[in-house]
Amino acid sequence: MSIASEIHKLQAELPEGVRLVAVSKFHPAEAVAEAYAAGQRLFGESRVQELLQKIPLCPSDIQWHFIGHLQTNKVRAVMPYVTCIHSIDSERLLRLVNTEAERIGRTVDVLLQVHVACEETKFGFTPEEFECLTSSGILSELSAVRVRGVMGMASNVDDNDRIAADFRLIKNMYDKLVEVLESSDGAPCDTISMGMSHDYRLAIECGSNMVRIGTTIFGEREY
Ligand SMILES: *Cc1c(COP(=O)(O)O)cnc(C)c1O
Repeated sequence: MSIASEIHKLQAELPEGVRLVAVSKFHPAEAVAEAYAAGQRLFGESRVQELLQKIPLCPSDIQWHFIGHLQTNKVRAVMPYVTCIHSIDSERLLRLVNTEAERIGRTVDVLLQVHVACEETKFGFTPEEFECLTSSGILSELSAVRVRGVMGMASNVDDNDRIAADFRLIKNMYDKLVEVLESSDGAPCDTISMGMSHDYRLAIECGSNMVRIGTTIFGEREY
């Protein structure tokens, strides 16, 4: 199926209130253009160099979300171009993004990446670290970032019960975050980014309202 028809199919299938991030990493600007022509405006990229090369080749009203691990020394480079960073995985990165956003006089949306999957290599706050961070009070000290929610991935396993348990844990962490932020200054915390090509339906059942889908739309990536 073509990129356009995959986009149309997903737009028809996703329940109201669930946003689609089209993950275009490893796919050229031409592929982005096809999805754009089908009405898609929200795209996700996970590598800074690739994103910076692609942006000038793509329509200027695209919203770019950064979804990959962000090294602190690359923050400055991406900050002018991204509307949301899904992958805030340390307090240091969070503070740096805030400082950089302040410096260029803008506000940026961020999601806290949480780690619940069984794989050890994934980035993100464990439930314990997340608890520490959210109870520390730091989230309400940041003037140039808006903490909009959480992003997470389920374990890469075939067991649907395990995947659903991971998604429910991510949803729980989100619910706690909402409580913490509500008792501060009322920044809009409304985003649960979870679900990829192989597990987005289950993620939505477990409460996701933002899915990040690459392979289903664009085909297999060639690394
Ligand atoms: C690549 C990637 C996706 C998309 O994965 P697909 O399986 O191709 O849908 C989603 N989220 C993150 C963080 C990714 O790096």
